[in-house]
Parts: sequence; C-alpha cells; structure tokens
Amino acid sequence: MLKRIGGLSKSMIDKTRSMLSSNNQTPTAVIVAREDHCVSRKSISANALKVLNRLHEGGFAAYLVGGGVRDVLVGLQPKDFDVATDASPEDVRALFRNSRIIGRRFRLVHVVYGRDIIEVATFRASHDKGTGGEVGEAGRIVRDNVFGTIEEDAIRRDFSVNALYYNIADHSVVDYVGGLHDLNQKLFRLIGDPVTRCEEDPVRVLRAVRLAAKLEFDIAPDTLSAMQQTAPLLANQSPARMFDEVLKLFQGGYSKRSFAAVRKHDLLEYLFPMLAKRLAENASPELEKMLNAALVNTDKRVSQGKPITPAYLLAFMLWPDVEAETKQYISDGKKVSEALMLASEDVLKRQLAVISIPKRFSGPMREIWQLQPRLEQWRGKRALKLMEGRRFRAAYDFLCLRSTIEPELVEVAAWWTEVQEVPFHDRVDYTSRKKAVYGLWGEPKPDTPSKKKRRRRRSGKAKPTNAQPNGKPSKD
Ligand code: ATP
Ligand code: MG
Repeated sequence: MLKRIGGLSKSMIDKTRSMLSSNNQTPTAVIVAREDHCVSRKSISANALKVLNRLHEGGFAAYLVGGGVRDVLVGLQPKDFDVATDASPEDVRALFRNSRIIGRRFRLVHVVYGRDIIEVATFRASHDKGTGGEVGEAGRIVRDNVFGTIEEDAIRRDFSVNALYYNIADHSVVDYVGGLHDLNQKLFRLIGDPVTRCEEDPVRVLRAVRLAAKLEFDIAPDTLSAMQQTAPLLANQSPARMFDEVLKLFQGGYSKRSFAAVRKHDLLEYLFPMLAKRLAENASPELEKMLNAALVNTDKRVSQGKPITPAYLLAFMLWPDVEAETKQYISDGKKVSEALMLASEDVLKRQLAVISIPKRFSGPMREIWQLQPRLEQWRGKRALKLMEGRRFRAAYDFLCLRSTIEPELVEVAAWWTEVQEVPFHDRVDYTSRKKAVYGLWGEPKPDTPSKKKRRRRRSGKAKPTNAQPNGKPSKD
C-alpha cells in the first residue's frame, strides 16, 4: 500500500520534488492519477460536479481549481468551488440556463443554484502574454482579460498551492508550478518573481497572510520578504476591495488566527489604522482580552453554523476609539447620546477612507454603539421596550463582551441576562426592581438634585413629574 502524506501518495511527492528544477523554472506538469490522491467526487459539491460534467460532456476541458482542490487535499471542507475551462464565457452561458456573465476586469460566468454559485472562468493568460491586458502605475494590473492555455492559467494564479487542477475527464490532479511539493511542505509560495507578483496586485499580501493563517501553513522566505517590501502599496488599494478582504479575514471561521497573523505581519495599520495605533501605543491587556473574546465568539458562531454579521466585529474594532471620543465630547459638555453620535460619525469617517463599510453594516454598527449607554442605565418598562428592539440582541452581546474588561458592567450584563430568562409576565415587576447604574460615561450621579429639567407640555400646562414606583425620577 502507498503511504499517503497530506492526501498524496509518498511516491507522488517524491516524483513532484524531483521534477522541480533547481533554477526555479516552471516544471513540466505533474499528473497525479486518481488512485494517488484523495480528491474524490464525494468531496466535491453536487453543483460543482454538475458544472464539471456538463462542460466535459459538451466537449470542453473542465477542471476544479484553486482553494477547492487545495482544501480537499489538506483535509478541509472547501467553502467554495471554482471551475476553469477552455470554453469561452459565451459557450458556458449557452450550456447553463441558470448562468450569467459577470465582471469587467475578468469576465467570468456564475452558474447559479439558489444560494450556491459556481464560478466558471475561461483559462486566462497573464496580462503580458497577449493584447488584452493593461498595467498601470507601480506595475499594478488594471485590466486582465486575455484568454490562454491551462499552463498560462496556472502561472498567473497567486500561490503554487492555489494552482492545482482536478481534471474531471480522468479525475487526476495536475500541477504546473510545484504546488504539490509546497502543499506537502505546508508552504505558501508566490508563483514567479514574488516582488513583481505583489506589485501587480498588493492584495496578494493580505491573501498570503489570511490563507497561511487558515491552513496553518508557513510563508516561503522569498515570498515573505517581497510581502514586507510591498505591503505599503496596500494603502492605495480601493476601499471596496479592502472591505472584501476584511470580510474574508474575519468571517471564515478562523478570525482569531487571521487577526494574530495580520498583527504579526504589521498589516493592521492598513485595515484598522486607529486600532493599530492604539494597540501600538498603549497595548492594554484588557483591550486585547476584549478583542480576543469578540474573535473567539465569531469563530464559535461560524463553527456552530449560526449567522454572523460583519457589523458586530467591525463595531468592536472601532469601539475603543468611539468610546474614547464619546468621553471627550461628554467632557466638552455634550450629552451622552449626542456625544456618541458625533464620535461614531468621526470614527466611521476616518475608517471609511481605508475600507468601505456599506451602509447596511455601518447602520447596525451605529445602533449597537448607541444602545450601549441605554443598556447601562435603563430600568422599568423602558427596559422591556429596549428588549423588543431589533438590535437588542447584538447590543446585549456587545455589552457582555465589554463587561469582560469593564468590571462596572458585570452587574449590568448579568441583569440583562437574567431579565431575558424571567417569564414574560413577570418581567414588568422584575424590571421595576432594577438597580440603576450611573456615572459610567462621566454623567452626574442621580442624586445631584438640580440637574433635572422640567418638560413643557405643548398645551402649555405643566405635566406631573414623571415618577418611578420608588419615587425617584426616571432618567432620560
Ligand atoms: P478561500 O476560498 O479559501 O478563501 P481561495 O484560494 O479559493 O481561498 P478565492 O478568492 O476563492 O480564494 O480564489 C480562487 C482562486 O483564484 C485562488 O485559489 C487563486 O488560484 C485565484 N486567485 C484569487 N485571487 C487571486 C489574485 N489576487 N491573484 C491571482 N490569483 C488569484
Ligand atoms: Mg475559494
């Protein structure tokens, strides 16, 4: 029986290694037969298989490529499957009624099965192999739509382990760039000259860090030094693309490892500059603890198959600055809710220059922040109203995590936990007994008598004082 290493037989690894030329030239293809690798049809999604089979039956070459092949080979469950073919986008479109052509820079076809989308790309050559590509300032590729051969398609991919092809025709795995060798060494290595490849697309620097963290691989030394050299180019990337990368970094179920890797490689300043500065200047164990708890919580939800929203984690990344600025505004005489609103505005504005956060996420982030002082101070029936709000649960979770580093909040968080466990009909009574917490935001204590303002009624008549059952004034 053959010995298998990382899903490949020992003999295949040796064969691959021996075919890598010492002068770093692209080796000829290594073809690993079905019996020598672990990519079975069972490990491929039914929809990806349908696409591969139909292309093959239509007379086209059809391969699974990229993260799908890589992940199966290392024993992980791929999150998506990408298909590469010699069929043109129009040919693919004609084969699948449930498909659409997308993309300007790269024209791809999405074959849509409900929420599952299989991306089908025609083999592409590198931008300098034909007439369709354009290179802009600093060597960055601005247009890249040149069709090519499978070999050309392989060498324009980013890392060698991302350029392995599973051929539906004979179920073999094909390697043009030494990817099997690197996979066995647990190494991410940029294909070609690493500096040029990072300059062409600086986001590859982030991809290397993320994927190495995901797979717990190392980064090859020459790839690493190219990344360090070119990382500053990340500052000029489009905020929209940077946001996509942030989502991939923190929503894949390995956000804790991603965050640690981003910091280790000094890349946090390109994603969350305010937080990076804060952590660099006065790294407090409490802040580390809170961020860690938020990341662990996110990863746990992903592993349990529970829904997650980027708003929650993003709200944490920006919270230390929102909180500090809010306190500043309060000390300048603003009321808590106004101070919080102004601080949220300032912090988001600064952050949006780096990564764009769509309104559908920044809106909930603001709501989570706005609810923090209200959760800290409400009692009585108002508490019940807060609980009915659509952002209550996220704001409550947020408060609980804050309480891990703010001891004053432990009691408040515990109270909210309890009240949610109280049977519905007992909640009014229960909430009226809440012990109010004051002063966390630098506001006056409730006993300070002269601060209470009287509200005027529209009719001009004075309204009776809004009193609580215990006779104390309610706090707005
Ligand atoms: P995962 O899906 O696990 O995040 P992945 O490697 O599949 O990782 P995708 O973004 O899905 O990442 O990309 C699919 C494939 O497309 C990659 O494996 C790689 O071959 C190629 N690719 C993606 N981004 C780039 C890039 N910036 N430069 C060159 N090739 C890329
Ligand atoms: Mg993928």
